Amino acid sequence: MNLELFGIDKQTQKFCEEIENTLQETFADIDKTMHYNGAKVLYAMQKNRLSDIHFAATTGYGYNDLGREVIEAIYADIFHAETALVRPQLMSGTHALTVALFGNLRPGDELLSPVGKPYDTLHGVIGITKTNGSLKEFGVTYKQVELLEDFSFDYEAIKQAITPKTKMVTIQRSKGYSYRPTFSVEQIGELISFIKDIRSDIICMVDNCYGEFVSTIEPSDVGADLVVGSLIKNIGGGLAPTGGYIVGKEEYVENSAMRLTAPGLGKEVGATLGLNQPVLQGLFLAPEVVANALKGAIFASAIFEKLGFDVMPTSKEKRHDIIQAINMNNPENIIAFCEGIQKGAPVDSFVVPEPWAMPGYDSDVIMAAGAFIQGASIELSADAPIKPPYTVFFQGGLTHYHARIGMIIAVQTMKDKGLIKF
Ligand SMILES: *Cc1c(COP(=O)(O)O)cnc(C)c1O
Repeated sequence: MNLELFGIDKQTQKFCEEIENTLQETFADIDKTMHYNGAKVLYAMQKNRLSDIHFAATTGYGYNDLGREVIEAIYADIFHAETALVRPQLMSGTHALTVALFGNLRPGDELLSPVGKPYDTLHGVIGITKTNGSLKEFGVTYKQVELLEDFSFDYEAIKQAITPKTKMVTIQRSKGYSYRPTFSVEQIGELISFIKDIRSDIICMVDNCYGEFVSTIEPSDVGADLVVGSLIKNIGGGLAPTGGYIVGKEEYVENSAMRLTAPGLGKEVGATLGLNQPVLQGLFLAPEVVANALKGAIFASAIFEKLGFDVMPTSKEKRHDIIQAINMNNPENIIAFCEGIQKGAPVDSFVVPEPWAMPGYDSDVIMAAGAFIQGASIELSADAPIKPPYTVFFQGGLTHYHARIGMIIAVQTMKDKGLIKF
């Protein structure tokens, strides 16, 4: 299969291909979800009469940006939400979440995370770590309820934690970079119903990063008031060069828009500078890109299971995001794996990733990424904090062929260093 171009020996090829042959049924299930979500996207584009006029660039204030408006209408339809804010001015997932939080919380309000600690970059936003400009500095308090030992929701403690001050709940769908299962959309729905039964006016926001199009439904289908994510992950399909989205109830999305631009301006401004076309084309490709990434993750999971490593999720488990976690047991394995992923990249394949003290992390971190769009983790990438249990988080792959070759090169790299045998 031309793998010798990358120095893959016969033995590695045979080992990987035998595993791959056991996965065809799982891949067929992934394809079913892809076809379902693809239809959802195509229908939303047709329904909103997408046309090439929408690809025109606006500049300056960006008044009457028809493309921007049609993008937001299409997103709202895909998420079955009242409205959407989809902008290149939302600079990342963290920024989109920040805008949704600051837009809807006021001094004296309390934010609750009922699913343990949120993604690292939100600690500064909330004020879990002392940071200038945090919600805490503006008088918004925060509470957190840990998951139970089996990673289920601690309903009793959540009930206790909800007070008249509780204005908003933030639920992170994906495991992110912690070693816990990702929640299914159905589980998130149960949690939202529980919270709404206690007080129906609590705003339930879901951090949907890495989750889009993995299932046939999204958190807004099960009662989420706000769903937030990044365009350089799943839903940008690898083509959106930047951006984030916030979809949900009109009132809460409007509040977010007032915060993103300025009170009184809201959604009416924001030039799109020619980015509407890649945002739309990326959305069009996204269901298939997500399927490709999932196939890569399942392949990785099956290989490392076979090699005796602890993996989350397993190759047979139903997936709720595109991330694959593998406990590598020691730094040497992590480093070799990441070197292999980097060697398999289309961009910067010749550089060797090294652990470094990245700001915001409490240990050295190694990252492998050779992406067309800087930091786009829908492209094949791997990262790992260098600390026990030496978990590497692996995600992305725009195409199935790349997700596959990347993984095989990673395996060969580990084998060449004598770290694994088969
Ligand atoms: C990636 C991610 C974020 C934030 O994303 P950035 O775009 O890197 O700022 C937030 N939450 C989760 C779960 C993520 O995976």
